[in-house]
Amino acid sequence: MSTPIETDALVIGAGPVGLFQAFQLGLQGISCHMVDALPHVGGQCVELYADKPIYDIPGIPVCTGRELVERLQQQIAPFKPTLHLGQTVDTLHATPDGRWLISSEHATWLSKTVFIAAGVGAFMPRSLPIDGLTPHIGHHIWFGNQHLPSFAGQDLLVTGDGDQALQICLDAVGQAKSITLMHRREHFAATSERQQAFKAAQAAGALRFVAGQPTGLEASNERLNALRHLNAEGEEVTLACDHIVMALGLSPKLGPVSQWGLEMERKQLPVNTETFATSAAGIFAVGDINTYPGKKKLILCGFHEATLAAFGAAAHLWPQDKTLLQYTTTSTTLHKRLGLL
Ligand code: FAD
Repeated sequence: MSTPIETDALVIGAGPVGLFQAFQLGLQGISCHMVDALPHVGGQCVELYADKPIYDIPGIPVCTGRELVERLQQQIAPFKPTLHLGQTVDTLHATPDGRWLISSEHATWLSKTVFIAAGVGAFMPRSLPIDGLTPHIGHHIWFGNQHLPSFAGQDLLVTGDGDQALQICLDAVGQAKSITLMHRREHFAATSERQQAFKAAQAAGALRFVAGQPTGLEASNERLNALRHLNAEGEEVTLACDHIVMALGLSPKLGPVSQWGLEMERKQLPVNTETFATSAAGIFAVGDINTYPGKKKLILCGFHEATLAAFGAAAHLWPQDKTLLQYTTTSTTLHKRLGLL
């Protein structure tokens, strides 16, 4: 296990609420590390509705999901939270000195407080619903969001219907021996520009589309030979391939959060609404992951929760100090923390 990174606060989840949590912690004089399974910040706002308008953020009549996240990043910049992206927090354990030991596949943290801002779960790439994939992942079977190898001289099969799936096919033109895109029907969710580029490459014979629903793998001696699938006529047939790229998008998986031994209620973490503390000392839950009477899964509610959780964290870290409410308008302490003085 790597040497733990010691910190006062660890925020699990860099969605809109996790980002605002870093801001509110900064105002309290608490620096933090943040972890997210995605390779970028923004949670649902960026992953599910980046270009759609949001109308109910106070003071911003309209902005897209991506714009909101860009503004939040600007707002938290003075506090310089350390970001650890593309990694999922798997374990969380209490230590005898009252701190928490938290691990992802790449790092370990020892933190006095933990903020679970995990939303509806960690965004993970979807995989094909067939058996026997695991031994081939990273060798002959890839997720579309991974760093992909060269497919030069190989028979490549890509599954999916979005921009990523079509672009992976287009990128392999001129390199791969054959390129096949498979989806249950020839109707794509990709942008019209990308669909046009795909159709042009298809018309030129550089790649092809096959309608099919995968049912199984054919492999021998650790090599992938073919994908079995139901064709448009409902018959099970095979398609020879050396590599499969699954570009099926991402879906949130609550997974790890439910295994941390915290009290849960219908897959959510119950909190005390004074501080948004969970039943475990030093662990707070904010945003879509928490539950309490009257809970609404709205970004502005998450912002309120993050504010009170930061006050709760200050009281937990420095129990001897009186909690002081200061205004960003007039407080020189806050101006110093914001880097204005
Ligand atoms: P999320 O945005 O879900 O972010 C949580 C992050 O935590 C994710 O990035 C995830 O990868 C990460 N994570 C989870 N578990 C782990 C782990 N174990 N390790 C590492 N990372 C982890 N709300 C509004 O207020 N107004 C709207 O107009 C609005 N429109 C919406 C439209 C759509 C289509 C959808 C789906 C939602 C909308 N919402 C809207 C709801 C809003 O997006 C959510 O309330 C908000 O995103 C919750 O923020 P969050 O930070 O709690 O969680």
